[in-house]
Amino acid sequence: IVGGPAAWQWLYELELAEKWGVDTIVDGEGEKVVVELVDNALRGEELPRYVYVGVDNVPSVEEIPLIKGASVNGLVEIMRGCPRGCKFCSVTLRPLRFIPLDKILAEVDVNIRANVKGIILHSEDVLLYYADGVKPKPEPVLKLHEEVIKRVGEKRTLAWAHVSLASVKYAEENYKLISKLAQEIVLNEHRKIIGVEVGIETGSPRLARDIMVGKSKPYPVETWPQVVEDALRIMHENMIVPAATVILGIPGETSDDVVKTIELVERLKPYRSIIVPMFFVPMGALKRNKWFLRDHLKPEHIEALRVMFNHTIYWAEDIMKLYMSSPVYLPVRFLLKYFMSYVKWRVRQLESQLERIIKK
Ligand code: SF4
Repeated sequence: IVGGPAAWQWLYELELAEKWGVDTIVDGEGEKVVVELVDNALRGEELPRYVYVGVDNVPSVEEIPLIKGASVNGLVEIMRGCPRGCKFCSVTLRPLRFIPLDKILAEVDVNIRANVKGIILHSEDVLLYYADGVKPKPEPVLKLHEEVIKRVGEKRTLAWAHVSLASVKYAEENYKLISKLAQEIVLNEHRKIIGVEVGIETGSPRLARDIMVGKSKPYPVETWPQVVEDALRIMHENMIVPAATVILGIPGETSDDVVKTIELVERLKPYRSIIVPMFFVPMGALKRNKWFLRDHLKPEHIEALRVMFNHTIYWAEDIMKLYMSSPVYLPVRFLLKYFMSYVKWRVRQLESQLERIIKK
């Protein structure tokens, strides 16, 4: 019986499921459905091939049990679901639930007892912990960080799984919340940065309106590129290092949309970040659309890949230094630097091949 956040991928690899003896694929939150499944398996009854966990079957906060051992990378859930409603996302189809602080702290303790090196607060948007819709509220977020950091101590790392860029802008401009969290609570001489994943997805307000109208809220979707720029500047000033995703090949995307994305990425150059291109995968409300394939590549996509690659290489060394500031990491830093030079060289070589593929 397999599950987890990427369980949907099995549906595209049914022969592998067969090969590795997978009986059932559970797509969604498993806490409730797994009980009956395991019961049936133990009784030797036939199992369903695929279980999609719909809204009626997701666990309530009370039904989510405490973890018993340390989690991967010290990941501790602080909420589930997301209110922003992006069409390409499956998380947003689940109800929004906040995990109470005492439960979060108990899971932090489980991890600390197992000697993890750091804690990652997991949510689709950490700043929306007990928020007012899509507007972050400072008190619960500050309290959460104050209590978690007491347990994390001076030397362990603290990171966020995800924040949304609109929340970063709103929280800072209305409450100075980002600077308070970073400067007054989290950062110190050992913890020099906070890492986080964010979604840019597109630089085109037209496309953003089509597929992720809630992502910029409470700001109008027409201002999405400005929201992205402002949020990256705020994070840069507060030593928060985002790994940002951009999706290429979204259904309905035009060449002009990709050009707008390229222009936005170019404007983000002053801000310390990694920008990672992803190709569209049919999920969420866009589940019935087609995958983005090599044949769909346009010259603008290649240019977008090139611009994102250059941005990431530009910042990679600086980020590496911050992550690995202790002298014990010097050999690793040296190797990574060497590796990056190699990657740069290989990409230059591949550029001409890519152009040939497009011309075909
Ligand atoms: S903001 Fe992120 S988690 Fe929320 S719906 Fe959009 S893509 Fe999904």
